[in-house]
Amino acid sequence: MRLHLIFGAPGSGKGSLAKLVNEKFALTHLSTGDILRDSVSKETEVGLRVKASMANGTLVDDDTVNGIVFARLQDETRGVLFDGYPRTLKQAIALDDFLSKTGSEFGLVVYIDVPMSVLESRIVGRRVCGNNACGAIYHVVRKKPVVDGICDFCNGLLIQRSDDTSQAFHARMAEFNATYEPMLAHYRGKPNYRQVDGIGLPDEVFNAISMLYEEYV
Ligand code: ADP
Repeated sequence: MRLHLIFGAPGSGKGSLAKLVNEKFALTHLSTGDILRDSVSKETEVGLRVKASMANGTLVDDDTVNGIVFARLQDETRGVLFDGYPRTLKQAIALDDFLSKTGSEFGLVVYIDVPMSVLESRIVGRRVCGNNACGAIYHVVRKKPVVDGICDFCNGLLIQRSDDTSQAFHARMAEFNATYEPMLAHYRGKPNYRQVDGIGLPDEVFNAISMLYEEYV
């Protein structure tokens, strides 16, 4: 089994790019956020334990996340792309240890680099359709609806999510930098680490990432 990692700040496009990469290269997509949300909705033992952290957006403890991830990896035979893991240096070290014990191979570690000012304008300019059943996403500059403030698909009112305000963005980035930077530093300088410019159009960024995977997968 070969294990790939994809990293990027909130607003870097990481989630959508990870989905495209998985489809193109037939990798198993493992998103710790999705696995944890699923445990919460099924009210499993882990789900009940992590419910509060998930609800207030703080990180789930390292041992719990590592336990979930390693259990999932036991059954994997093909390539895996992690999205949202590792998130802390402790998780990165535990993953190294797991890989060396199980003889699995490390694949590509991709960091999608987007400057802070661009991330802020992407997030703070984001508007979503207030009709939950629709949830279409717009941007005040990059993706305007036909009629100002109204969803093109369902005529719902467009709103700004409470975690998309400038204040919430800066709080999220401070937390992100505190845990993410030391974790990224663990991978920078390793031969399989690649940094991709994430400022361009989604297709351009995807093409740049695809070229890296062509070499590896
Ligand atoms: P976001 O990018 O908004 O954090 P995710 O779907 O990646 O969204 O994660 C949702 C929540 O799941 C996080 O806020 C955190 O509580 C938890 N979580 C996901 N991955 C991890 C991880 N590797 N370590 C700790 N907590 C995690």
